[in-house]
Amino acid sequence: MTPWKDLRPHQREKTRDLGEVILLPGLVNAHCHLDYTDMAGEFSPPKTFTDWIASITAHKTGWSYSDYARSWLRGAHQLLKTGTTTVADIEVMPDLLPEVWDATPLRVFSFLEMTGIKSRRAPKEILREAVEMIDSLRHPRNRALLSPHAPYSTMPELLRLTARISQKRKWPASIHVAESVQEFEMFLHARGKMHDWLKRNDRDNSDCGHGSPVAHLARNQLLGENVLAIHVNCLARGDATLLAKNKTHVVHCPRSHDYFKHPKFERARLAAAGVNICLGTDSLATTRKVGKHKPELDLFAEMRLLADADQSVSPETILQMATANGARALDLAGKIGELAKNSFADAIALPFTGKIARAHDAILAHSGHVAASLIEGRWAVPPQS
Ligand SMILES: [Zn+2]
Repeated sequence: MTPWKDLRPHQREKTRDLGEVILLPGLVNAHCHLDYTDMAGEFSPPKTFTDWIASITAHKTGWSYSDYARSWLRGAHQLLKTGTTTVADIEVMPDLLPEVWDATPLRVFSFLEMTGIKSRRAPKEILREAVEMIDSLRHPRNRALLSPHAPYSTMPELLRLTARISQKRKWPASIHVAESVQEFEMFLHARGKMHDWLKRNDRDNSDCGHGSPVAHLARNQLLGENVLAIHVNCLARGDATLLAKNKTHVVHCPRSHDYFKHPKFERARLAAAGVNICLGTDSLATTRKVGKHKPELDLFAEMRLLADADQSVSPETILQMATANGARALDLAGKIGELAKNSFADAIALPFTGKIARAHDAILAHSGHVAASLIEGRWAVPPQS
């Protein structure tokens, strides 16, 4: 390793002095819904999770294609300004791709959302359409992938088909799971508000009552080292081991968790079992306003909230969750989430004049925009001076 002061640029290579900054890997946001960005502050925290689903479903009917596109791009801009260089995004409007990809330097993993309960479409048909869309999209930096929305909003066959093709084609896959207590009791006990509401809407609930939502994924083969399990706010006995044994990644979204007042996130239990835990922003449709201000997508805000909510986790671990752990989940370990030989030049700079020993605390205390951001060696947020 060459000390910084001894580094010399190669001939004709330009150098840029960023001044007194911390240079760290670009942040990896492991779960987001960019296209809901303009819903920021629209819904005050609901009584129950199903109330929120009803609100957002009603709100979405008034949105046009261009509303989604504008919202998606605003979200990408907010992420860049706050240090995210890679995002795992859920797409409800895949037709926006690849235009929105081309309009931002952000590295985007676009997971195409699949449901099928309300539309009553056959899982094979839903999957065929999504795979065709994926195969039609080619981009030098970004990828499209599969995301069955959640166990309650999909039929088990869709999970099995997704698992099969994602494993075969070595695609990461993502799914919301065990997000709410209502989903938990729906699968564990075949009862509760979500169970009854979906039954009234003609969902075939015969897949309920056989174990937790995580066990439901295991039964349908959708656990594995290519799977990002989003939320996992409710754990049954054995679930942490099941996730660890299958090398499934868990994505925690602290502000969304706080918005819904879910049961305490079992970080320590998952970590003790050996689960790789990443961080995500989720969407601004599930982020509280701060005072009168609309919230913005910001992984630093997520890190700070996690540090407040869980005193047992160190700043180093939190930063790891927002960088290297997300990289592992997206099968880009060594390429993003760290500054290393052969990694992409994805880096961000934060103003800092303190002592090196305090750097991790300073990173966690950072609020506002980054001083600069670099993605694949190009300025995504150019330095001001
Ligand atoms: Zn989500």
